Amino acid sequence: AQAQTVATEAAAVSLRGLRKTFGEVTAVDGIDLDLTEGEFFSMLGPSGSGKTTVLRMIAGFETPTAGRILLGGADVTDQAPYARDVNTVFQDYALFPHMSVLQNVEYGLRVKGVDRRNRRTRAVEALETVRLEGYGDRRPNQLSGGQQQRVALARALVNRPKVLLLDEPLGALDLKLRREMQIELKAMQRDVGITFVFVTHDQEEALTMSDRIAVFNGGRIEQLATPVELYEHPASAFVAGFVGTSNLLEGDVATAILGMDGLFTVRPEKIRLQSRDAAAEPGTCTATGVVREVVYLGSATQTVVDLDAGGSLIVLQQNRQGSVQDKLELRGTGVRLTWDREHTVAIGGPQ
Ligand code: ATP
Repeated sequence: AQAQTVATEAAAVSLRGLRKTFGEVTAVDGIDLDLTEGEFFSMLGPSGSGKTTVLRMIAGFETPTAGRILLGGADVTDQAPYARDVNTVFQDYALFPHMSVLQNVEYGLRVKGVDRRNRRTRAVEALETVRLEGYGDRRPNQLSGGQQQRVALARALVNRPKVLLLDEPLGALDLKLRREMQIELKAMQRDVGITFVFVTHDQEEALTMSDRIAVFNGGRIEQLATPVELYEHPASAFVAGFVGTSNLLEGDVATAILGMDGLFTVRPEKIRLQSRDAAAEPGTCTATGVVREVVYLGSATQTVVDLDAGGSLIVLQQNRQGSVQDKLELRGTGVRLTWDREHTVAIGGPQ
């Protein structure tokens, strides 16, 4: 009676022992993953770490060397791309230039043989979702880059896929527009409730939008966690450095400052910068050093301090009224750094 039992809540996407080699190169080195329905999931990692290859295997554009891919519990590993209930949005989104925005969005439905009326209704709806109502009659070259990217998104959403795969879709936009689109994209995803699998090498982008993030390194997942967990409790020195500023304390330096052996991080915004002769506060961690560099960032100031015990730490301070000029003149001065003990985070180290 247990045979063929289907899990009541199958994962939207499951990857089982997924591998891909190109000749000598191992692009993806054994990935296991379960994505929840409606989740905004990001794959974050440096160039060449295997993110795009995983995405292309989920889409069906690339055949795994080993492993299985399941969508909603059904094994699709051997299915052609068009048979899978997924859509992909690329960075280079290539709209049809000779078609209107509405025709571009309708295109996929026309290919599927959806009748004209339904096509229209759904395309108009999709344009509303991406906040482009009223733009249907324009040609792509009459739109800004951000608007074109939204059309590409509408073109994918109109098919109402269970899973939307996005490969650096904001990569071609300038920084300001990119930051705006991040917030909007997250809001849209929440509205439509589709599972998003988002590839990026921009840590801030991943932190801003994701429910969970997989950090890729050399074809493997180095850590899989929520943005807060990743930032506050990185599992390895790689993650600590890739997501945020690493600020590592290790070896003799850790022993001198913390009285502990091992590998630790303390995030820059947790550290207070004081004058060197300030009394050490009980119950806190403290280290003295000399300011090597001060960088003005507008809303904040970043200070690099060479520690007397060896190594260096970066301190990030919000610029409140009046205090900025004093900070900028600290180069070469002796200082004391202090942080609460709970902000010294032990790093798990790669498994
Ligand atoms: P990026 O952020 O630069 O897109 P990525 O993390 O998405 O990088 P992949 O594109 O998945 O990385 O590439 C992973 C590895 O596989 C790289 O070493 C890459 O050179 C290699 N690779 C990817 N596609 C092919 C291919 N078609 N033929 C040969 N090698 C490939």
